[in-house]
Amino acid sequence: MKAIVFDFDGTLTKSRKGSNCWYEVWKYIDDLEYDNFLYNKYKRKEIDDETWMKLIIKRYREKDVRRVYLHEISKKLELLPGTRETLKKLYENGVKIFVLSGGIKQIIEDVFKRENVDKFITAIETYDLIFDNNGKLINYSRPSLHNLENKNEYIELIKNQYNFKSEDILFVGNGSNDEMVYLSGARTLCINPDDTDPSNKTIWHNQIENCENLSEILKFCDFEKSK
Ligand SMILES: [Mg+2]
Repeated sequence: MKAIVFDFDGTLTKSRKGSNCWYEVWKYIDDLEYDNFLYNKYKRKEIDDETWMKLIIKRYREKDVRRVYLHEISKKLELLPGTRETLKKLYENGVKIFVLSGGIKQIIEDVFKRENVDKFITAIETYDLIFDNNGKLINYSRPSLHNLENKNEYIELIKNQYNFKSEDILFVGNGSNDEMVYLSGARTLCINPDDTDPSNKTIWHNQIENCENLSEILKFCDFEKSK
């Protein structure tokens, strides 16, 4: 095993069902109804992923979302117990750690800095919000992938970039937007499942139905083979 790729929301964080970085922003600006309205439009395929993102940013700008809001939101997010120790152990055993999330980069980075785990992480692939010098939201930038629904494509990028084979990589996730990963050939582990069926053995090779401490994943990590 040479690399581990984590989903963020509900995988590295303790989160209520359905909660994620975006949900927390909508809640913060007291606009969950509009969030639902856009989400349903997307689900009914009336708007595509990119239009959905543009409409979110438009609304956030109208609501004057500020950089500091993201920092405030990050304070509410707690990492799963044992996260620091587990990431440290993986790092010290030469395993490269990636985070692949449909969330918001600033929130994830603020949580990692606060918990002193940022130094263990090779890369975070997610959406980035762009603010001006006064902390006012201007725009967003996409991750290098066109669509984070296709998380398997990110695994392909890592494989090419670092010269890994599929079996060198373990993916850890919890939701329906992680389901495509198995197509990359990486091993997959579902923890604390949200809107996915962890007993589907094609999609999820292993599962921890109720993972209370991230160190429980270590029994699925074979460092020795990476040496
Ligand atoms: Mg998730």
